[in-house]
Amino acid sequence: MTTVGVLGAGQLARMLALAAHRLGITVRALDPSDHPCAAPVCPVTQASFTDLPAIDRFLDTLDALTFEFESIPADTIRHAAERLPTHPNAESLRLSQDRVLEKQVFSEVGFEIPRFAPVDSLEDLHTGADHIGLPAILKSRTGGYDGRSQARIHNHDQLADAWAAIGAVPAILEELVPFEREISLIGVRSTTGEIDFYPPVENLHINSTLYTSRAPAELSRAHELEAQHHARTMLERLDHVGVLCIELFLTRNARLLANEFAPRVHNSGHWTIEGAHTSQFENHIRAILGLPLGSTEAIAHSAMINIVGVEPPLAKLLAIESARTHLYTKQPRRGRKLGHVTVTDNDPAHTNALLDRLTAIIPPPPGV
Ligand code: AMP
Repeated sequence: MTTVGVLGAGQLARMLALAAHRLGITVRALDPSDHPCAAPVCPVTQASFTDLPAIDRFLDTLDALTFEFESIPADTIRHAAERLPTHPNAESLRLSQDRVLEKQVFSEVGFEIPRFAPVDSLEDLHTGADHIGLPAILKSRTGGYDGRSQARIHNHDQLADAWAAIGAVPAILEELVPFEREISLIGVRSTTGEIDFYPPVENLHINSTLYTSRAPAELSRAHELEAQHHARTMLERLDHVGVLCIELFLTRNARLLANEFAPRVHNSGHWTIEGAHTSQFENHIRAILGLPLGSTEAIAHSAMINIVGVEPPLAKLLAIESARTHLYTKQPRRGRKLGHVTVTDNDPAHTNALLDRLTAIIPPPPGV
């Protein structure tokens, strides 16, 4: 029997485990939390991601290792890779953890990126604002997610407050892109070098947190091919194995700019469970084990909505015909992702109508 280990035991590990189980593959997870949401579906070892003796004992039980979130120390992945197949590799992880390195990689593989400046002091921030212009957005270089550790700056009087708001930590100042749409591209590469892409997804973020995704996105074929071309270069150059998600802005003048990437399964790919021939979770497991990838084609038009902070009554969600509800059994907390719902239909107008009914009962993410 094959056993895959996952560092992190949140909803992504839970959905990876559910997909793996269907293939007769066992998943075990490791997480510091005492109530991890993957626990109902797979055994979870409670330990810190830096506790190497505990991690070594965990590795003893596995055939391969992966991770479900970015804040795992890259050294832990490097350590594991000396003992067993570990994917994605530590370099993909390390680059995704630093917004400046991330932008450099994008640029090297051919993606256009927003103008940016690294910022290490309030003085740098003033220089950066002069150079890039305002409005702009200041983000911590590491550790930020879902809009945390970010501040928007509209005029020079706000620079000192923005610097304080993100905690005066190493940061990046980016031009505020007047995007028309946000798109994500999810690719997957196997240990055998096989690469495939899901149809592009259109994402709506509210308060910097994903609220809805629609797939396939309305994106020109030329843009889709351009994004895939650069993403393929990136997957190969990083020798990345597993799912990789790239978030992009489509500007009003039809430029595609890369914003960030996640070296893992991604929230904007949850629709693939019902909406694609093979889900991102199953393909991630297949990829890291060197199994043939499954078709990434969409079955129909899908929309996914996140349940953040408060859970609507289950009966209300289930009353919407064909809506597929996923609840993660997490304690409700402001800004916390508690579940998602996917609707899939051949007729995009019907998918949109179902999504409208869901947005009426599932409120957008609150600010954090
Ligand atoms: P991020 O953590 O970089 O994904 O940012 C969260 C969200 O903030 C993005 O999905 C966008 O909606 C918005 N955002 C981030 N960076 C920019 C930018 N440079 N210009 C405009 N909006 C941005």
